[in-house]
Amino acid sequence: MSYDPALLVSDPVAGRSCGTCTLCCKVFDVPSLDKPAGQWCKHCAPGRGCGIHETRPQHCRSFHCMWMTTDFLGPEWKPEKSKFVLTVDPASKNLLVQVDPGQPGAWKATPYYAQFKRWAEAAVPEHRHVIVFNGKAATVVLPDKDVALGVLGPDDRITFQRRDTMHGVLIDVRKVKATAVS
Ligand code: SF4
Ligand code: SF4
Repeated sequence: MSYDPALLVSDPVAGRSCGTCTLCCKVFDVPSLDKPAGQWCKHCAPGRGCGIHETRPQHCRSFHCMWMTTDFLGPEWKPEKSKFVLTVDPASKNLLVQVDPGQPGAWKATPYYAQFKRWAEAAVPEHRHVIVFNGKAATVVLPDKDVALGVLGPDDRITFQRRDTMHGVLIDVRKVKATAVS
């Protein structure tokens, strides 16, 4: 199972709908509502939907997770089942995995973790990466290891340094201040 970030779309594909899933209303922050990541939005009825659907912020209107916008992820990848929400960062094309804080180990379960490793391996030549977030705490999934970076503040950035070795390309990951990479 592979994906090409260049082919990803922002609208739901035919046959996909949120249904009883409301996980994005918990795991992400919504700046216009002062809603922090990891807490249910005060307007959300979990499992039922948005209580202000007609007037919900634009931020919410335009959001669709990767399960909604692709047709190759099976029902086990629907966020209400997997307990994480997949997105692709529009700039870096990194795959982002935002985990339900109520189930912080969900991304390590079968079949997800093995698939994240396969995606991480496939993304190396394209300088893309798989990054798991528990709240604002980031873990980079690499083919040979996982690197826990702790909480990423607004001024923090992740750097990836590649080394060609006799065992192939190895990647060193660090958390640095934005001023160090600008
Ligand atoms: S996480 Fe995806 S499937 Fe679930 S409510 Fe949000 S957009 Fe819909
Ligand atoms: S306003 Fe509605 S759609 Fe937006 S996070 Fe809250 S419950 Fe979800």
